[in-house]
Amino acid sequence: MKDLRCSLDNCAHNKGYMCRARNILVTEEADCATYKPEFERESDDNIMFEAGMEGFSQAIDGPKIHCSADACVFNKSEKCVANGISVLSEAREPVCASFSLK
Ligand code: SF4
Ligand code: SF4
Repeated sequence: MKDLRCSLDNCAHNKGYMCRARNILVTEEADCATYKPEFERESDDNIMFEAGMEGFSQAIDGPKIHCSADACVFNKSEKCVANGISVLSEAREPVCASFSLK
């Protein structure tokens, strides 16, 4: 996933409205289950620092997405095959706005 834009800037994985997690989990309802409260952000930064080049490469490639929303056209065997997705806040929940019904 090269381009994962996310409006939840209160998530520890969010840097400049991009998702910097290595992997994210999206539920059957298309919610991001990897959301982490902002107060855990500092430990995330340490992990990224320690990861060195692995972290650098992940920042270019973006997160891998495991997705259980199998009604979505971009879902192939529980992997998201879209070139990019957007995650937005709906009723304070992080939801994949790129979900498209098959
Ligand atoms: S996509 Fe999920 S894990 Fe990534 S920044 Fe948004 S809420 Fe956080
Ligand atoms: S676009 Fe579809 S397959 Fe990809 S993460 Fe969103 S709901 Fe899952």
